[in-house]
Amino acid sequence: MKKIAVYPGSFDPITNGHVDIIKRGLRIFDELIVLVAYNPNKKSLFSVEERIEMIEEVIRDCKNVRVDCFKGLLVEYVKGVGASVILRGLRALSDFEYEFQLALINRRLDRDVETVFLMTGYKWFYTSSTIINEAASLGGSVKGLVPEIVNQKMQEKYKSGKEKP
Ligand code: ADP
Repeated sequence: MKKIAVYPGSFDPITNGHVDIIKRGLRIFDELIVLVAYNPNKKSLFSVEERIEMIEEVIRDCKNVRVDCFKGLLVEYVKGVGASVILRGLRALSDFEYEFQLALINRRLDRDVETVFLMTGYKWFYTSSTIINEAASLGGSVKGLVPEIVNQKMQEKYKSGKEKP
């Protein structure tokens, strides 16, 4: 049977840290779904549609991975697509408590769904969408931290003056 994993997140926008987790996840699982979660509690820079478009561009040459979006209970989505694993990335200690809580609640909601963590690549230890957004909004270069397509989109967004820090 195919082992399908779901990699959920905000991906606002996708960073090289996310890409690293996707590529390494693909070495473990037969299929990966990058799931852009609608989170009404988080102020976002890019719309869900824009985020999906960027991810699709980034994974264009990768096999066995696709993008989707979802509003609702994650474990229900996971079950619905025939997956059994939630893939998450771990960076600094600060990620741990939140990720621990999330994994525990998801396990409580469905014991057949396991959360699997991949430790971040050392280069991406301090890379987060939030920090990248902040730097870019102040005119800082984020080249090398995000895929080139994302770098361009961020420059366009901030240059257009629509987004202010
Ligand atoms: P969320 O809003 O759910 O935290 P994110 O898009 O910020 O969504 O992150 C999605 C997942 O990717 C989380 O598990 C997060 O810890 C992981 N992640 C984010 N940035 C990195 C990185 N630089 N290295 C490894 N994992 C990361």
